[in-house]
Amino acid sequence: MSLSESELPRTEDEWRVRLSPEEFRVLREAGTEPPWTGEYVDTKTPGVYHCRACGAELFRSEDKFDSHCGWPSFDDAIPGAVKEIPDNTLGMRRTEIRCARCDSHLGHVFEGEGFTPKDTRHCVNSISVRLEPKQG
Ligand SMILES: [Zn+2]
Repeated sequence: MSLSESELPRTEDEWRVRLSPEEFRVLREAGTEPPWTGEYVDTKTPGVYHCRACGAELFRSEDKFDSHCGWPSFDDAIPGAVKEIPDNTLGMRRTEIRCARCDSHLGHVFEGEGFTPKDTRHCVNSISVRLEPKQG
């Protein structure tokens, strides 16, 4: 289900035809889905979360935890899968996270909140990812 390098869309118009309007708004225009509305907020199913745009593996269910913030939260990402970009919009100093492969917006990463021993929260839009449940 992962797109090969040559299949990756090159322009926003190519992305637009591949994604639903809501997926496009979040993934390609750095939108945010309303809290508590995403399909994976409370999901505990074991598996791997893939980028909904390109299919790259991003997060593991083992790293998902209950942050009670309204979005799926992970205290770690698959190494190299996610890139971090300073985001100073909305008068806040935050760090945006994007898929390292296709540059699609995933959410933001926060540190120092004390939720887990890793002290990191990748706050991810459900619509940016797709869970592939573990087989067997
Ligand atoms: Zn991607």
